[in-house]
Amino acid sequence: MTQADCLFCRIVAGEIPSNQVAETEISLAFRDINPVAPQHVLVIPKRHVADSLADLDDPWVLADLVQLAREVAKGDEFAGGWRLVTNIGADGGQTVPHLHLHLLGGRKMKWPPG
Ligand code: AMP
Ligand code: ZN
Repeated sequence: MTQADCLFCRIVAGEIPSNQVAETEISLAFRDINPVAPQHVLVIPKRHVADSLADLDDPWVLADLVQLAREVAKGDEFAGGWRLVTNIGADGGQTVPHLHLHLLGGRKMKWPPG
């Protein structure tokens, strides 16, 4: 399942370059082009299974995304701790409608988020 007009589907297809960090058969991790923390990695399903977590039919995909994020977060850059975020819809701050997790680290983060 790919959407020709979807930015992240195009990254998976190699049509748009990305700074890839790690992958599984199901998921891909790459650096965010506009990082909001010293470490900012996006973790996405390679297939366009959902626009966001709200419309995900197969919850097992989420386990693979989280597992890949945990693997990336084993790096020294994340030794101080990290945060895993998924934005949903306009109020959630989502801009790209292809399910993704933000893995953030490398600085102390505020709570609650803005
Ligand atoms: P969201 O706002 O939660 O939908 O997250 C989308 C993220 O995609 C933002 O943090 C953007 O900086 C990031 N982004 C947009 N275009 C690219 C790109 N070509 N490569 C890497 N990250 C991107
Ligand atoms: Zn997509």
